[in-house]
Amino acid sequence: MSNHSGSYLIQEVFTIIEELGFFKNIEKQRISNLCKKIALMAMCNYDCNPGEIMDKISPKYGICYHCWGVVSDNEKNDDFHGFCRKCNETCTKEREERKLRDHNKK
Ligand SMILES: [Zn+2]
Repeated sequence: MSNHSGSYLIQEVFTIIEELGFFKNIEKQRISNLCKKIALMAMCNYDCNPGEIMDKISPKYGICYHCWGVVSDNEKNDDFHGFCRKCNETCTKEREERKLRDHNKK
């Protein structure tokens, strides 16, 4: 069970900061570093969920919330859900392997 309320609170704070223009003219890597630092603290100390925190900010600024790297515009596509291509492939592969293992247990 994770702290959904805390995660959404931080997401709303990021959205307010963004709407007020504080991210304007700041390079993506610095925005990513700020989000990473806050999200890791929230995850480690308050059991928050990175997807719920980064849901709206991640696609807008091209930040992968798995490796916290910056995702280039040509790497982003309509299917972008917050993971860079490499993390998406790794997680998809792990998910498929887990599914196969679970299926074989039955
Ligand atoms: Zn990544």
